[in-house]
Amino acid sequence: MRLDKMLANSGFGTRKEVKKLLKTGVVKVDGNVVKDAKVHVDPEVQEVTVHDDIVEYREFIYLMMHKPPGLLSATEDHHQETVVDILQEEDKMFEPFPVGRLDKDTEGLLLLTNDGQLAHQLLSPKKHVPKTYYAKIDGEVTTEDMEAFKKGVTLDDGYETLPAELVILEAGPESQIEITIVEGKFHQVKRMFQAVGKTVTYLKRLSMGELKLDEDLELGEYRELTDEELELLQ
Ligand code: URA
Repeated sequence: MRLDKMLANSGFGTRKEVKKLLKTGVVKVDGNVVKDAKVHVDPEVQEVTVHDDIVEYREFIYLMMHKPPGLLSATEDHHQETVVDILQEEDKMFEPFPVGRLDKDTEGLLLLTNDGQLAHQLLSPKKHVPKTYYAKIDGEVTTEDMEAFKKGVTLDDGYETLPAELVILEAGPESQIEITIVEGKFHQVKRMFQAVGKTVTYLKRLSMGELKLDEDLELGEYRELTDEELELLQ
């Protein structure tokens, strides 16, 4: 990887700041001063130092975001703001991407990482990683809906969903529920309710696998996962 990326990812500032640092001649690779940002290094085998202090390289970043409504679950978009746009520059340096998608109007737990293997593990349809959502529903959610979801419902395109667990928190003209699904079809929760003639008016993801949304995070805030949280996902 490029030396400037490695240093930027290791907390030495933006690529621009790193370039300036390199020019001062304080960075060495295997004992030799390197001033060229474009030089490639292998952090596994080469020793990089700044002011003769060894740089501990970190390859991956794992962020938990409380996604606010209005942002696209994408890395970049020409017209609309994305979840990556609101990250701090030093976190963007790792080139994280959202693990799966939440609709633009959906809130809640969103994991962002640059660890492709972990993302694949969590998103693989074969793994059936459970995802739990809280939702407000226009209409009265019934025990028949619970039974229907338990068996699986047919979506508008003919797809038969896998069984999903529905918990009714409040039934009435506007119902509140929690639903756990083990797959991730496009607009899945909204379309499952559509299949039983109801409309989701608010949707928030609470958990993904064993990882739960930290409710101390305000909408739009994010933080790194703790080691314990990361272990829960592996
Ligand atoms: N299901 C939906 O309908 N939307 C989401 O954002 C996530 C799950």
